[in-house]
Amino acid sequence: MRPAAGLNAGVAEGVGRTALLVAAARAIETHRTDALARDPFAEHFVRAAPVSAGWPVRPEQVPAGEADPLWGRLGRYFGLRTRVLDEHLLDSVERDVRQVVLLGAGLDCRAFRLGWPPGCAVHEVDTAGVLAFKQAVLDGTRATPTAGRRTIAADLRLDWSEVLLNAGFDPAAPTAWLAEGLLLYLPAAAERRLMATIGRLSAAGSTLAYEIKEIAESPRVRASPVYAAARQRLGIDLLALFDSEARPDSAGELTKRGWTVAVHTPYDFTARYGRGPRPEPDDALAANRWIFATAPA
Ligand code: SAM
Repeated sequence: MRPAAGLNAGVAEGVGRTALLVAAARAIETHRTDALARDPFAEHFVRAAPVSAGWPVRPEQVPAGEADPLWGRLGRYFGLRTRVLDEHLLDSVERDVRQVVLLGAGLDCRAFRLGWPPGCAVHEVDTAGVLAFKQAVLDGTRATPTAGRRTIAADLRLDWSEVLLNAGFDPAAPTAWLAEGLLLYLPAAAERRLMATIGRLSAAGSTLAYEIKEIAESPRVRASPVYAAARQRLGIDLLALFDSEARPDSAGELTKRGWTVAVHTPYDFTARYGRGPRPEPDDALAANRWIFATAPA
């Protein structure tokens, strides 16, 4: 079912449209025989928004398969990322965390598709426009949350702690924080503020997983086909959306504050699962790092 026209605004343009890109990749991954992760809701979002209604949602709609720079290789990257971060969050709740915060949640449906323990709360933070579109689409499905789901409209460049606390977030309880596909778009000062806020709101035993590009990409990498494909086929200029400032060393700062930090490349997990993207020349994924941190006891 297609939401009323005004409800598409949040995903129609700018960084909001990237949420549809990841949803389409998850839809395609869902229907692969060797899927790394399955999200039965993803295709509903892609079909519902006029800008993405014609994008593929099945592997057979991607004639070049793995060779397609967008839906092949980058799509597999998103499938792998989803799997790894699903497992990370489920590991966190196994260690008695009962509060999850998805920063830049986009069209993530973990609150509906993962098996959360009783009493678990999942907070989804994103712009009001993205959350309105998401809700309108979910309302047209039989989706039932498997956790206590709370949606929080906020601009993550600003101070979002008040609105999270007002939504019932408990800073005295350990939290699993996730910033998946978010920090690439935030100015450096906003990333520093966001990390400081997480630090302030994290009780002992909290975890944080996030994704960054560790270094600025060279002109050869920026000329790689995946960026041109996203621009030409989807109208998403990722290079223009990525923040161009030098990145803060958030992993180093967390370590200084006593967090235990592990930095991984996606290829560490391709090797672990035997599936996923592999390095290539002038690789647009080479600078990507997935960082896993645990707050001090
Ligand atoms: N984490 C989701 C996933 O992996 O499917 C969505 C990733 S999508 C690439 C980036 C998301 O970050 C979008 O939903 C966008 O609206 C959100 N975002 C970017 N900048 C934001 C900001 N300043 N405040 C709130 N949300 C923001």
